Amino acid sequence: MKPITELTRDDIKDVKLVCFDVDGVTIKKGTQIKVEETPETQTMTIRTRLLAREMRDKLIELKKHYFIAINSGRSTIYLKDVFNELLWDNVALIGEVGIFTLAKGELVQHEKFDEKALAKMRNIRSELEKYADTTRISEAFEPKQFLITFHTRFDDKNVHEIVKKIDPESEFAVIWSGEAFDILPRRLNKGTALVSLCKYLDVDLSQTIAIGNGNNDRDMTETAGIGVTTEPKVLRSDFYTTGSQHLGGFELIDKLLELNR
Ligand SMILES: [Mg+2]
Repeated sequence: MKPITELTRDDIKDVKLVCFDVDGVTIKKGTQIKVEETPETQTMTIRTRLLAREMRDKLIELKKHYFIAINSGRSTIYLKDVFNELLWDNVALIGEVGIFTLAKGELVQHEKFDEKALAKMRNIRSELEKYADTTRISEAFEPKQFLITFHTRFDDKNVHEIVKKIDPESEFAVIWSGEAFDILPRRLNKGTALVSLCKYLDVDLSQTIAIGNGNNDRDMTETAGIGVTTEPKVLRSDFYTTGSQHLGGFELIDKLLELNR
Protein backbone atom coordinates (compact mmCIF):
# COMPACT_ATOMS: atom_id res chain seq x y z
CA MET A 1 0.00 0.00 0.00
CA LYS A 2 1.19 3.47 -0.85
CA PRO A 3 -0.10 6.78 0.50
CA ILE A 4 -2.35 8.63 -1.95
CA THR A 5 0.23 11.43 -2.07
CA GLU A 6 2.37 9.04 -4.17
CA LEU A 7 -0.24 8.62 -6.91
CA THR A 8 1.36 9.83 -10.16
CA ARG A 9 0.20 11.18 -13.52
CA ASP A 10 1.50 7.97 -15.05
CA ASP A 11 -0.67 5.83 -12.71
CA ILE A 12 -3.83 7.63 -13.84
CA LYS A 13 -3.05 8.28 -17.50
CA ASP A 14 -5.73 5.79 -18.69
CA VAL A 15 -8.33 6.48 -15.98
CA LYS A 16 -11.78 7.43 -17.24
CA LEU A 17 -14.03 6.61 -14.31
CA VAL A 18 -13.79 7.29 -10.57
CA CYS A 19 -16.04 5.21 -8.33
CA PHE A 20 -16.94 6.33 -4.80
CA ASP A 21 -18.39 4.55 -1.83
CA VAL A 22 -20.97 6.70 0.01
CA ASP A 23 -21.05 6.25 3.78
CA GLY A 24 -17.87 7.46 5.40
CA VAL A 25 -16.20 8.36 2.09
CA THR A 26 -18.40 11.03 0.48
CA ILE A 27 -21.03 11.46 3.20
CA LYS A 28 -20.74 11.10 6.96
CA LYS A 29 -22.15 7.85 8.31
CA GLY A 30 -25.38 7.71 10.27
CA THR A 31 -28.88 6.88 9.09
CA GLN A 32 -31.74 6.45 11.51
CA ILE A 33 -35.18 5.15 10.70
CA LYS A 34 -38.21 5.29 12.92
CA VAL A 35 -41.56 3.74 12.15
CA GLU A 36 -44.76 4.32 14.04
CA GLU A 37 -47.71 2.12 13.24
CA THR A 38 -51.36 2.15 14.10
CA PRO A 39 -53.70 -0.54 12.77
CA GLU A 40 -54.41 1.74 9.81
CA THR A 41 -51.37 3.95 9.22
CA GLN A 42 -47.63 3.92 9.11
CA THR A 43 -45.43 6.96 9.71
CA MET A 44 -41.80 6.60 8.73
CA THR A 45 -39.11 9.08 9.65
CA ILE A 46 -35.71 8.75 7.99
CA ARG A 47 -32.81 10.81 9.22
CA THR A 48 -29.83 10.86 6.86
CA ARG A 49 -26.86 13.13 6.32
CA LEU A 50 -26.70 15.41 3.32
CA LEU A 51 -23.87 15.82 0.89
CA ALA A 52 -21.65 18.58 2.25
CA ARG A 53 -21.48 21.62 -0.03
CA GLU A 54 -17.71 21.34 -0.26
CA MET A 55 -17.94 17.70 -1.38
CA ARG A 56 -20.63 18.57 -3.94
CA ASP A 57 -18.50 21.36 -5.43
CA LYS A 58 -15.41 19.16 -5.64
CA LEU A 59 -17.30 16.31 -7.29
CA ILE A 60 -18.73 18.78 -9.84
CA GLU A 61 -15.18 19.95 -10.52
CA LEU A 62 -13.93 16.36 -10.81
CA LYS A 63 -16.56 15.35 -13.36
CA LYS A 64 -15.03 17.81 -15.82
CA HIS A 65 -12.19 15.28 -16.03
CA TYR A 66 -13.76 11.89 -15.26
CA PHE A 67 -16.98 9.96 -15.29
CA ILE A 68 -18.11 9.70 -11.67
CA ALA A 69 -19.89 6.70 -10.18
CA ILE A 70 -21.47 6.60 -6.75
CA ASN A 71 -21.61 2.95 -5.65
CA SER A 72 -23.95 2.16 -2.79
CA GLY A 73 -26.34 -0.30 -1.18
CA ARG A 74 -28.82 2.54 -0.75
CA SER A 75 -31.85 2.97 -2.95
CA THR A 76 -31.56 5.00 -6.14
CA ILE A 77 -34.36 7.27 -4.81
CA TYR A 78 -32.22 8.19 -1.83
CA LEU A 79 -29.11 8.63 -4.00
CA LYS A 80 -31.03 10.83 -6.42
CA ASP A 81 -32.11 13.09 -3.56
CA VAL A 82 -28.64 13.40 -2.10
CA PHE A 83 -26.58 13.63 -5.30
CA ASN A 84 -29.21 15.49 -7.32
CA GLU A 85 -26.96 18.42 -8.16
CA LEU A 86 -24.37 16.13 -9.73
CA LEU A 87 -26.78 14.81 -12.36
CA TRP A 88 -26.99 14.13 -15.24
CA ASP A 89 -23.85 14.32 -17.36
CA ASN A 90 -20.81 12.17 -16.54
CA VAL A 91 -22.43 10.68 -13.45
CA ALA A 92 -23.96 7.32 -12.54
CA LEU A 93 -25.68 6.50 -9.28
CA ILE A 94 -25.43 2.77 -8.53
CA GLY A 95 -28.13 1.69 -6.10
CA GLU A 96 -28.89 -1.48 -4.15
CA VAL A 97 -25.40 -2.92 -4.75
CA GLY A 98 -25.63 -2.80 -8.52
CA ILE A 99 -29.19 -4.01 -9.01
CA PHE A 100 -29.96 -0.55 -10.45
CA THR A 101 -28.02 2.27 -12.09
CA LEU A 102 -29.40 5.75 -12.60
CA ALA A 103 -27.49 7.37 -15.49
CA LYS A 104 -28.02 9.17 -18.78
CA GLY A 105 -31.65 9.90 -17.92
CA GLU A 106 -32.61 6.29 -17.35
CA LEU A 107 -32.91 3.80 -14.53
CA VAL A 108 -31.34 0.54 -15.66
CA GLN A 109 -31.92 -2.76 -13.90
CA HIS A 110 -28.83 -4.96 -14.21
CA GLU A 111 -29.94 -7.88 -12.04
CA LYS A 112 -33.04 -10.02 -12.22
CA PHE A 113 -34.24 -12.58 -9.71
CA ASP A 114 -35.91 -15.93 -10.25
CA GLU A 115 -39.09 -16.97 -8.44
CA LYS A 116 -37.17 -18.93 -5.83
CA ALA A 117 -35.00 -15.95 -4.89
CA LEU A 118 -38.00 -13.61 -4.85
CA ALA A 119 -39.93 -15.97 -2.58
CA LYS A 120 -36.99 -16.17 -0.20
CA MET A 121 -36.66 -12.38 -0.09
CA ARG A 122 -40.37 -12.01 0.61
CA ASN A 123 -40.29 -14.65 3.37
CA ILE A 124 -37.16 -13.23 5.00
CA ARG A 125 -38.75 -9.82 5.12
CA SER A 126 -42.05 -11.02 6.54
CA GLU A 127 -40.31 -13.15 9.20
CA LEU A 128 -38.18 -10.16 10.22
CA GLU A 129 -41.34 -8.04 10.38
CA LYS A 130 -42.91 -10.59 12.73
CA TYR A 131 -39.76 -10.65 14.82
CA ALA A 132 -39.74 -6.85 15.11
CA ASP A 133 -43.42 -6.93 16.11
CA THR A 134 -43.01 -9.57 18.80
CA THR A 135 -39.93 -8.00 20.32
CA ARG A 136 -41.60 -4.56 20.17
CA ILE A 137 -38.33 -3.00 19.10
CA SER A 138 -38.38 0.08 16.93
CA GLU A 139 -36.37 -1.56 14.16
CA ALA A 140 -37.34 -0.79 10.60
CA PHE A 141 -36.68 -1.50 6.94
CA GLU A 142 -35.12 1.01 4.61
CA PRO A 143 -37.39 1.56 1.57
CA LYS A 144 -35.82 -0.44 -1.28
CA GLN A 145 -36.98 -2.45 -4.29
CA PHE A 146 -35.14 -5.72 -3.68
CA LEU A 147 -32.40 -5.43 -1.09
CA ILE A 148 -33.47 -6.01 2.50
CA THR A 149 -31.94 -3.46 4.85
CA PHE A 150 -33.12 -3.97 8.41
CA HIS A 151 -32.05 -1.35 10.93
CA THR A 152 -31.25 -2.65 14.40
CA ARG A 153 -29.32 -1.27 17.31
CA PHE A 154 -26.81 -4.12 17.44
CA ASP A 155 -25.61 -7.21 15.55
CA ASP A 156 -28.61 -9.30 16.61
CA LYS A 157 -27.94 -13.07 16.46
CA ASN A 158 -31.65 -13.73 16.00
CA VAL A 159 -31.57 -12.01 12.61
CA HIS A 160 -28.91 -14.47 11.41
CA GLU A 161 -31.02 -17.38 12.74
CA ILE A 162 -34.22 -16.16 11.04
CA VAL A 163 -32.49 -15.86 7.66
CA LYS A 164 -30.80 -19.25 8.07
CA LYS A 165 -34.15 -20.97 8.61
CA ILE A 166 -35.55 -19.60 5.35
CA ASP A 167 -32.28 -19.90 3.47
CA PRO A 168 -30.48 -23.05 4.71
CA GLU A 169 -28.50 -23.14 1.43
CA SER A 170 -27.02 -19.80 2.44
CA GLU A 171 -27.67 -18.18 -0.94
CA PHE A 172 -28.09 -14.87 0.85
CA ALA A 173 -25.41 -12.96 2.70
CA VAL A 174 -26.32 -11.31 6.00
CA ILE A 175 -24.04 -8.34 6.54
CA TRP A 176 -24.07 -6.14 9.63
CA SER A 177 -22.96 -2.62 8.69
CA GLY A 178 -22.85 -1.09 12.14
CA GLU A 179 -26.34 0.37 11.85
CA ALA A 180 -28.31 -2.16 9.81
CA PHE A 181 -28.35 -5.65 8.29
CA ASP A 182 -28.04 -5.89 4.54
CA ILE A 183 -29.48 -9.16 3.27
CA LEU A 184 -28.72 -9.85 -0.37
CA PRO A 185 -27.93 -12.64 -2.84
CA ARG A 186 -24.29 -13.64 -2.39
CA ARG A 187 -23.50 -13.19 -6.08
CA LEU A 188 -24.02 -9.43 -5.70
CA ASN A 189 -21.40 -7.06 -4.32
CA LYS A 190 -19.99 -3.64 -5.12
CA GLY A 191 -17.44 -5.28 -7.44
CA THR A 192 -20.12 -6.90 -9.62
CA ALA A 193 -21.89 -3.52 -9.50
CA LEU A 194 -18.82 -1.83 -10.95
CA VAL A 195 -18.54 -4.53 -13.64
CA SER A 196 -22.20 -3.96 -14.66
CA LEU A 197 -21.67 -0.21 -14.86
CA CYS A 198 -18.49 -0.53 -16.93
CA LYS A 199 -20.30 -2.84 -19.38
CA TYR A 200 -23.16 -0.36 -19.63
CA LEU A 201 -20.77 2.56 -20.26
CA ASP A 202 -18.32 0.55 -22.36
CA VAL A 203 -15.41 1.44 -20.07
CA ASP A 204 -12.64 -1.07 -19.33
CA LEU A 205 -12.17 -2.00 -15.66
CA SER A 206 -8.48 -1.12 -16.00
CA GLN A 207 -9.60 2.48 -16.63
CA THR A 208 -11.23 2.85 -13.22
CA ILE A 209 -10.30 4.02 -9.73
CA ALA A 210 -12.46 3.01 -6.78
CA ILE A 211 -12.37 4.29 -3.21
CA GLY A 212 -13.99 2.67 -0.19
CA ASN A 213 -13.63 2.20 3.55
CA GLY A 214 -15.06 -1.15 4.62
CA ASN A 215 -15.16 -4.90 4.02
CA ASN A 216 -18.17 -4.47 1.76
CA ASP A 217 -16.04 -2.27 -0.52
CA ARG A 218 -13.29 -4.87 -1.02
CA ASP A 219 -14.75 -6.41 -4.19
CA MET A 220 -15.07 -2.92 -5.66
CA THR A 221 -11.55 -1.72 -4.83
CA GLU A 222 -10.08 -5.05 -6.03
CA THR A 223 -12.07 -5.02 -9.28
CA ALA A 224 -11.06 -1.46 -10.17
CA GLY A 225 -7.81 -0.73 -12.00
CA ILE A 226 -6.64 1.25 -8.98
CA GLY A 227 -8.04 0.75 -5.47
CA VAL A 228 -7.96 3.33 -2.69
CA THR A 229 -8.85 2.78 0.95
CA THR A 230 -9.72 5.41 3.53
CA GLU A 231 -9.49 2.84 6.35
CA PRO A 232 -6.23 0.97 5.74
CA LYS A 233 -6.61 -1.03 8.98
CA VAL A 234 -9.91 -2.49 7.81
CA LEU A 235 -9.48 -2.55 4.04
CA ARG A 236 -6.14 -2.99 2.25
CA SER A 237 -5.73 -1.56 -1.24
CA ASP A 238 -3.21 -0.11 -3.71
CA PHE A 239 -3.32 3.34 -2.10
CA TYR A 240 -4.56 4.73 1.20
CA THR A 241 -5.66 8.15 2.33
CA THR A 242 -3.84 9.59 5.32
CA GLY A 243 -6.88 10.70 7.31
CA SER A 244 -5.95 14.37 7.22
CA GLN A 245 -9.55 15.27 6.27
CA HIS A 246 -12.80 14.20 7.87
CA LEU A 247 -13.94 12.33 4.76
CA GLY A 248 -11.41 10.26 2.84
CA GLY A 249 -13.05 11.05 -0.49
CA PHE A 250 -11.65 14.58 -0.33
CA GLU A 251 -8.04 13.39 -0.44
CA LEU A 252 -8.54 11.39 -3.63
CA ILE A 253 -10.47 14.21 -5.33
CA ASP A 254 -7.83 16.79 -4.36
CA LYS A 255 -5.04 14.55 -5.63
CA LEU A 256 -6.79 13.87 -8.95
CA LEU A 257 -7.54 17.58 -9.45
CA GLU A 258 -3.90 18.40 -8.66
CA LEU A 259 -2.65 15.85 -11.22
CA ASN A 260 -5.01 17.29 -13.85
CA ARG A 261 -3.82 20.85 -13.37
MG1 LIG B 1 -18.18 1.77 2.82
